[in-house]
Amino acid sequence: MPIVVQKYGGSSLSTLEKIDLLAAKLAERERREDKLVLVVSAMGETTNELTRLAYELTPSPPARELDMLLATGEQQSIALMAMALHKYGIDAISYTGVQVGLKTDTLHTQAKVLGVNSDKILGQIEKGKVVIVAGFQGVTAEDDVTTLGRGGSDITAMALAVALKADRLEKCTDADGVYTADPRIYPDARRIDRLSYEEMLEMSYAGAKVLHPRAVFFAWKYRIPILVKHAHLEGQGTWIEELEENVEQPIISNVTQDATIAKLTVYGVPDRPGMACKIFETLAAQDVAVDMIVQSTTMRDVNDISFTIKRGDLARAKGALESLARDYPGMDVQAEEKVAKITLIGLGIRSDSHVATGMFRALADEGINIQMIATSDVKISCVIEEAQLKSGVRALCRKFFL
Ligand code: ADP
Ligand code: ASP
Ligand code: MG
Repeated sequence: MPIVVQKYGGSSLSTLEKIDLLAAKLAERERREDKLVLVVSAMGETTNELTRLAYELTPSPPARELDMLLATGEQQSIALMAMALHKYGIDAISYTGVQVGLKTDTLHTQAKVLGVNSDKILGQIEKGKVVIVAGFQGVTAEDDVTTLGRGGSDITAMALAVALKADRLEKCTDADGVYTADPRIYPDARRIDRLSYEEMLEMSYAGAKVLHPRAVFFAWKYRIPILVKHAHLEGQGTWIEELEENVEQPIISNVTQDATIAKLTVYGVPDRPGMACKIFETLAAQDVAVDMIVQSTTMRDVNDISFTIKRGDLARAKGALESLARDYPGMDVQAEEKVAKITLIGLGIRSDSHVATGMFRALADEGINIQMIATSDVKISCVIEEAQLKSGVRALCRKFFL
């Protein structure tokens, strides 16, 4: 019988009522269909609350202990979910990441999954049980608890789907599918029926929270279809799967925004081999990931290099570059926090040169200045002022989806 992995996010489990409703709905389903494995996140704002507690105690909690603390959020929800299912007559059993042998590397708070032991879960499925696994957490070879980074329950769910050779992953969330834009920003956005892995991966990298990029990456690699649907409401949802490009394909599938970025500019960089390398090595040494990079044309033997990073990395990145700049007279570092990225995504972009001009026209008509541009086969991203993000998203939706 096919195995289906379902992942439930924190917002879908934020109250006992929601957990109870979910259990009642699952009880109906379990009497009908496939074998279920559930992956659950911590309830509501639990992970934020636990993080706040740690930082209230100390400005620099040891990463190992932070993981110990954060992992408790998911441990609460697996147990409650199992109890709720028992209440409706479903034989369910809960497991932590440690218990299912979800092995990771040792990079606390950002650990990467190395593998998972499927035997235990398969054994319980054979006994007719619904297995509930804690998302977001794993264990190192030294038996230390790790977490996979924010939003990491999606990764747990996909790792299990791969290990169990599941038929599909159902991501059950607070939206009834993937929309042409974040429905919280553009309420008139439309649900998309089907999306390619490539488009979804670009969307996730561009900042759409709806699926974690690493989960989409694994889904694509192992060709596991994902169905994004509402946790509590019935609906068609959105399928993410292998799609043939064809003339029926809409040129643009969606507009995605990311307001969690910051921009750094290094002025007066000597125009000689090795300087860009030095700057980005400095950032890499601080574990700062760089996204868009723009270098200006050379004037008087120097140029400027601008790039975007995660806003949370800004202080660390700026500090490191300022100490590098001390070695180079005239070099200076400037940070801008209030910027955001707006991205247009679609398989059709690679074959239509009018998309870029349409995007720039729509932003210009809103009086939005473009600070940086990056393109790939299936996306065009612009960095703009954060305050103009919502009006930018709406302008692009009106231009491309009406
Ligand atoms: P979960 O806790 O279930 O993992 P998330 O909050 O991480 O849920 O992701 C779901 C959210 O993603 C939605 O509430 C929605 O605001 C946001 N989102 C952003 N872009 C989109 C989009 N294009 N379509 C649907 N949801 C989107
Ligand atoms: N609870 C974790 C978080 O809030 C993991 C997740 O929800 O996916 O980031
Ligand atoms: Mg999430």
